[in-house]
Amino acid sequence: MKTLLLVEDERDLLQNNRTFFEARGYAVLTAETLKEAREQLAARAPDAILLDIMLPDGLGLDLLRELREKGDHTPVLLLTAWGRPQNIAEGLRAGANDYLPKPFDYDVLLARVETMIRNVERIPETITKGALKLDLAASEAFVSGEDLLLTPKQFSLLLHFVQHEGQTMAAEYLYKKIWGKPLNRDSGALKSAVSQMRRKLAGSGYAISSERGVGYCFEKE
Ligand code: CA
Repeated sequence: MKTLLLVEDERDLLQNNRTFFEARGYAVLTAETLKEAREQLAARAPDAILLDIMLPDGLGLDLLRELREKGDHTPVLLLTAWGRPQNIAEGLRAGANDYLPKPFDYDVLLARVETMIRNVERIPETITKGALKLDLAASEAFVSGEDLLLTPKQFSLLLHFVQHEGQTMAAEYLYKKIWGKPLNRDSGALKSAVSQMRRKLAGSGYAISSERGVGYCFEKE
């Protein structure tokens, strides 16, 4: 049985959503505030979260960012009365898997939830490259079984490299992808992350090469 966490402060809507999903075989957790949602998430790991944006104690987007910063990739669908394009774009950039403006059609909502959960299930649990192993569920990486003790950003960077093996990626692109903001003139964070990653990859059979002014490439040694 799949478990959904519904975060919604409009009680009637929350009740309707709960009834709808329970009737379709889902276990449903509910929260009317960010605080309640954090408490639910501390106790249980739902298969997906339906997240309202405007909540009495803050923005759903803040909870979403917290989850993604912790490396928690539970699929999140934003249910929002804010149909304005910039809110949708902001939500997707903050790590939402999907969104649906209110009022929504229940058939569409169900299909979106099923799709989000199916897409997550399709992601392999681990990726192995030579002596390097990435555990996607735990956001951990190992070389010959030794934990590289990566921060969430380092793990995202490594995963991005591994998923684009042999492709040279510009520093601006990588920084935007991992840090979620433009590189501007501060390339220090990326340079330092890459140089740490190079040390950590020693013995894995893979390395990160760089081409001045072009970018970085993850490839076999
Ligand atoms: Ca609301």
